[in-house]
Amino acid sequence: MNLREKKLWVFDVDNCLIRDVDHPTPFDDALKLWNALIEKGYELAILTNVGRLSARQVNQALSDAGFEIPLERVFTAGAAAAAYVHNRVPGARCFVIGEGGAQEDFIARGLDVTNNPPIDFVAVGADRGMTFQELNFATKMVTEGAPLICISGSRDYPGIYLGSEDTFIGERSIVAAIEHATGVETVVVGKPLPEILVETVKVLGHNVSDAVIVGDNPKSDIAGGNAAGMTTILVRRNPDNIIDFESGDLDTTPTVTVGSLDELISEI
Ligand SMILES: [Mg+2]
Repeated sequence: MNLREKKLWVFDVDNCLIRDVDHPTPFDDALKLWNALIEKGYELAILTNVGRLSARQVNQALSDAGFEIPLERVFTAGAAAAAYVHNRVPGARCFVIGEGGAQEDFIARGLDVTNNPPIDFVAVGADRGMTFQELNFATKMVTEGAPLICISGSRDYPGIYLGSEDTFIGERSIVAAIEHATGVETVVVGKPLPEILVETVKVLGHNVSDAVIVGDNPKSDIAGGNAAGMTTILVRRNPDNIIDFESGDLDTTPTVTVGSLDELISEI
């Protein structure tokens, strides 16, 4: 594998470029590689499983941390879920649970975000302010026939909310309650779903064989990248901050593993 032949580098965000979106401290090795890639003329993109922030908010957090990238090259699980719905029912009426970010991505896609029935799709992202009423309404709409979409698939994740440093239950756990109540199975839209990686690369005008994905998580970044046919680079980060995803029988073995991203500068 020759990294110099690759054209597009797709980066994960949390525990890869920055600690996480609640603590947007950059990793120095990531900044060095990022700047070296720009200097050498490679194309960059972001694909994050974060659904509680919109693409615009993720872009702002990255910019504050020193990673400059045009907004149209930032892809979130929320935006991928919105594309998934739009491709099936353009302008669909959607009930969206999230911290505002997913709602922003759905509206940006031309979808109708509403809490008035009838509801065509229920989409659930991580939401630390979710009420019982919202959970109950989502369950009712799924019972009445709305497909259930899980925006990304974390069981739990570390973060900071209202000043509290903690581990929070993720969207997959919230959706599990709705599945249990309704007997309806969710569609998880986020890494490692290979379709969203292929779609990201295609939208940017490339082939997966020309694209690299860099991330900290074997079960999301690497499993998804391998299944999509991309070159996969795993960076070893704090194991406590690696979020658990379901990757089924996808291959989680990276093409390359590095302890520090600046080790790659001599390869590009
Ligand atoms: Mg990550």
